[in-house]
Amino acid sequence: MRKLGLETIAVRGGIDTDTQHGAVVPPIYLSSNYTFKGYDQPREYDYARRGNPTRSLLAKALADLEGGAYGIMTSTGLSAITTVIQLLSPQDTLLIPHDCYGGSYRMFDHLSRRGLFKLLVVDQNDAVALTKALDAKPKMVWLETPSNPLLRLVDVKSIAAQAKAIGALVVVDNTFLTPILQQPLSLGADIVVHSCTKYINGHSDVVAGAIITKDQQLGIDLDWWANCIGVTGSAFDSYMALRGLRTLPVRLQQHQKSAAQIAQFLNQHAAVKAVYYPGLISHPQHELAKEQQQGFGAMLSFDLIGDIEQAKALVENVSLFCLAESLGGVESLVAHPATMTHAGMEEAARLHAGIGNSLIRLSVGLESVDDLIDDLSRSLDVVLASV
Ligand SMILES: *Cc1c(COP(=O)(O)O)cnc(C)c1O
Repeated sequence: MRKLGLETIAVRGGIDTDTQHGAVVPPIYLSSNYTFKGYDQPREYDYARRGNPTRSLLAKALADLEGGAYGIMTSTGLSAITTVIQLLSPQDTLLIPHDCYGGSYRMFDHLSRRGLFKLLVVDQNDAVALTKALDAKPKMVWLETPSNPLLRLVDVKSIAAQAKAIGALVVVDNTFLTPILQQPLSLGADIVVHSCTKYINGHSDVVAGAIITKDQQLGIDLDWWANCIGVTGSAFDSYMALRGLRTLPVRLQQHQKSAAQIAQFLNQHAAVKAVYYPGLISHPQHELAKEQQQGFGAMLSFDLIGDIEQAKALVENVSLFCLAESLGGVESLVAHPATMTHAGMEEAARLHAGIGNSLIRLSVGLESVDDLIDDLSRSLDVVLASV
């Protein structure tokens, strides 16, 4: 039989599964506990930290979309990541990219300092450094592609093969692209994690996370850990994210269509020094993006001419881009990494990482792209006048 399309899986998640009343849309089960059928006769669900029917529907839909065997919903993206690293013991090494999500980095750094595992941080595009790091036989190799905020890619298939050769588990944070645009399990990863807070829910009104495993038993083990450490997701958030998920494929198509137009517009503007978007032919990994992704996504960043004053002028003059952290909602957002997401970094380290004072990040929403470009155009004129 032909495999169902991703649009079909996304729309149909949990639809028409209510055996009691035939509800088309599945109900939210808010109950914290469930009766036993009788003495020593547990049902499928007993206590909502361990399991919840609404949560299961979302987890199943996400596992189907990623092509995995098992899905787990957690309270946040970071708690999904916290659950995955329970697989590590003090003698194990975790290998992470130097430019992974700041919250992930902070957690890995602080937990490794307390001796929970050993941490190796490398630029995974530096072949020599990567080989050297793999020689240390890490138990787990963490990937995140494209990266935030510079949209750098890593070759998942190649790194997963090298990691496999030394018996490491490969984890990919797939938040930026979602299974609609990138399926890491098919590229050799064992585990995918998501911040469902972003595109999967897509409406900026839920914080949630997910773990999807290729292997059933690994999924069962991680599900056990999620219950053990108490980080499973709420029924209401699962309901909301499942609702958002239904439109994920069509949202992403429009998101990335507008992002491509905005990238082209910025690329020819006199106030813009450089644009970072994998869909541009000038992006150094454009070919890799075409190979391992099914689209270029809707996150992009750019450097303005000038310095911090110009960045300030831009974010203060746009009106259709909210100045806010997070990403992936229907509404467009603008962020200034130097004073927001990456403010905690030492300035020298931040500049070394390529995150300059004039770097601007956009999460392109679903407003009319003509309106978004007009808005940017007006603000960039102010930037130009201020140089
Ligand atoms: C936001 C984000 C996270 C953390 O998710 P929360 O839902 O905020 O806990 C992890 N990874 C990436 C790439 C993110 O963008």
